Amino acid sequence: MELESKYDIVIIGSGLGGLGSGIILTNQNPELKVLIIEQHTIPGGYVTGFYRKGYYFEPGAEGFSSMYEGSALRKTLDEMEFKHEYIKLDPLETYYFDDGKKIALYYDIDKFLNEIEKAYPEEKKGTEDFLNECDMILGKYMKGEDIEEYKDWNFYDLLKKFIKNDNILDIFNLFCLWFSESIRKMKATTGATMVASILKTGVVYPKGGMANYSKKLADFFTSKGGTIIYGKKAKKILVKDQKVAGVLLDDGKEILCDWLISNADVKKSMLELIDEKHLDSEYLKFISDLKQSHSGVMLFLGVDMDLSNYPSHFLISEDIDCIDRIEEGIFEIKKLAIRIPAIKDPSLKNDGKYSIVAFIFSPYDWNNMWKSGPGGKRTLEYRKLKDDLIDEMIKKIETVIPGLKEKIEVRMLATPLTFDRYVLVSEGAWFGPYSFSKLPESKTPIENFFLVGASVEGGGVPSALSSGFKVGKNLLNLLKK
Ligand SMILES: Cc1cc2nc3c(=O)[nH]c(=O)nc-3n(C[C@H](O)[C@H](O)[C@H](O)COP(=O)(O)OP(=O)(O)OC[C@H]3O[C@@H](n4cnc5c(N)ncnc54)[C@H](O)[C@@H]3O)c2cc1C
Repeated sequence: MELESKYDIVIIGSGLGGLGSGIILTNQNPELKVLIIEQHTIPGGYVTGFYRKGYYFEPGAEGFSSMYEGSALRKTLDEMEFKHEYIKLDPLETYYFDDGKKIALYYDIDKFLNEIEKAYPEEKKGTEDFLNECDMILGKYMKGEDIEEYKDWNFYDLLKKFIKNDNILDIFNLFCLWFSESIRKMKATTGATMVASILKTGVVYPKGGMANYSKKLADFFTSKGGTIIYGKKAKKILVKDQKVAGVLLDDGKEILCDWLISNADVKKSMLELIDEKHLDSEYLKFISDLKQSHSGVMLFLGVDMDLSNYPSHFLISEDIDCIDRIEEGIFEIKKLAIRIPAIKDPSLKNDGKYSIVAFIFSPYDWNNMWKSGPGGKRTLEYRKLKDDLIDEMIKKIETVIPGLKEKIEVRMLATPLTFDRYVLVSEGAWFGPYSFSKLPESKTPIENFFLVGASVEGGGVPSALSSGFKVGKNLLNLLKK
């Protein structure tokens, strides 16, 4: 594609933050010349999917919260007439515990409590009381009232007040894992408001899959006059007179712009793409000290097997300490999360065959960078380590899906190095910088330069998309002045 030499607005990256800002800008002002530069060959960043030998895999987001009908995000998308069908994930998650018990987390509280009663009857009352307490906390939070009684409590202690069995605690640990946060570090009020609000509003899956959803957003952007260029990396942000003048691409081409939005990882944007002389030392230190969320390993299996009787999302084994261990640099395959996309949307089957995505958090630099050494070279040792991990993970999955090993037609493993390579996120972090720390503002110290995505608003699709919407709207207002 022949690019123009100058655009009104350039956006680096087509993650949901980049796409969100792009669609707002082009929708509200079709006169604007907006360019998205994406280094990958497809849009979406972590909202993505790929095919191998006919099998469809999703290496990132599995569902969206805050996307229920009437939510702020849906209203914004509806106003732009971006239409899409969403499938509610119910049960939200299913748990296969080591003691052989199985519990599905349904939104219908009676149905969920019934599951608890069947597995651990003595915990039904405590679980019910815990859920009521979460409702009370959410109610106070919505009214802006102080929740004094739990001000200094962590989520683990709140759960322990009502529930004795750690397996049930692990059900609610799910909401901590969404941010790769330890259950003992998550604030009680944050965990409780999340439990109460998610159980009311639900998590949805975009029909057709994640890759299709991002592609549809990208097509929507271009249908409104926006331009996307794929396979080109922004190599440098060009600054003149303390303002962004444009972007240098990795093929040597310079694109000039009046405004720049970066959806790239904030550390890479501020510490690599822009020359440090344009930023003060305090800001640079703040960015460089940002702690990243955790990354992990992800297994992709294509299997010639009927998996239609399994839940779309399930967890094998309990492990409430998984994040604490990772913070100490320890990696063990104790608990596995399994996703089967075609259970959510049968159109994603491979001629009746199923793909499985299995994952677990891990330290970024475990075992001498996964035996690749500091340069991240994909050595023979790296490949052997991956192969061993694949076998170990398959063994674990077979505790719930017996006979799986014999039916595998595709097997691949991604390590944190893979996530870094494909999305260019520092340390391959799954949710950008650690969401509960002070994050950078979308407005940077450079007047015509903004940040969007998980780097500024915290991990998750809703945060990334809404940050894109906010920055887009803000820029439209600035342009009116
Ligand atoms: C395994 C996993 C599971 C997850 N599950 C969920 C979930 O179920 N629900 C949920 O809400 N969230 C989930 N998330 C988190 C969520 O997907 C992300 O927080 C969110 O999508 C991040 O969006 P973003 O806008 O920050 O952009 P990113 O997704 O980080 O994308 C950034 C884009 O910028 C591009 N880019 C970077 N640098 C350059 C450059 N120099 N030049 C050109 N292009 C560049 C990248 O290629 C990429 O396309 C999950 C993430 C992972 C990894």
